[in-house]
Amino acid sequence: MAYFLHRAPSLLLYATRASMAPGSPALGAPASAGPVDPALIEDLVAANRILADQGVVDGYGHVSVRHPKNPERYFLSRSLAPELVTAADIMEYDLDSNPVDRRGRTMYLERFIHGEIYKARPEINAIVHSHSPAVVPFGVSNVPLRPLYHMSGFLSEGVPLFEIRDAGGMTDLLVRNPELGRALAQSLADKPVALMRGHGNVVVGSTIPLAVYRAVYTEVNARLQVQAIMLGGSITYLEPEEGRLAAANIAATIGRPWELWKRKALAREKP
Ligand code: MN
Repeated sequence: MAYFLHRAPSLLLYATRASMAPGSPALGAPASAGPVDPALIEDLVAANRILADQGVVDGYGHVSVRHPKNPERYFLSRSLAPELVTAADIMEYDLDSNPVDRRGRTMYLERFIHGEIYKARPEINAIVHSHSPAVVPFGVSNVPLRPLYHMSGFLSEGVPLFEIRDAGGMTDLLVRNPELGRALAQSLADKPVALMRGHGNVVVGSTIPLAVYRAVYTEVNARLQVQAIMLGGSITYLEPEEGRLAAANIAATIGRPWELWKRKALAREKP
């Protein structure tokens, strides 16, 4: 039995190779789910630049979107600083984070963050991973990140911490394989944001604008929370019910900042 389990995939790959035409995708590569509306790719490109404009990503960090026609595929740039990403840099992956058509391009080492969260969260269609600086201290401190104003009400669901040592022992802190990606997805559970100890954070949403909005305001809330703590005295955070009400209201209006951010990001010449 073990023999067949081991051999079957390579026989399948052999058959695939025999039927491949020149110029076909690489041996064993997953099939494409087909073309998508260019507006979605434009939004993904805009998201990369907006996150750079807003100080969430720098030379590192990435944002992805699930394929609207096939939940088993997602789009993510080749390995590139987010501010430099164009539509031509976007690659399609399966949820094991294998590229559909690599064409020699370098891939983000941490793409497993995206594939494994898409597997675990069917309602999630966009993911941001960043080292957004104001958030990092909350991943190494026992002071919890908590919402202190209405713009970050989504944080009132609680912000879990991914401790990579629990999953991988001593590592370079990067989510560089599917196992670590699965462990991160487990830590995130059903929440919109998870902190990654000694590294950064991951933010998810049902759409690109919502995930970007949450990533931006997770960073802003972290900055404001440190300022509130530095004032001394006691801090009144949002009540969970206030957070839920605020998040529901904001979700209906994020088209407003999104259109502004997108117009600015796409109008500007690339650096
Ligand atoms: Mn990272």
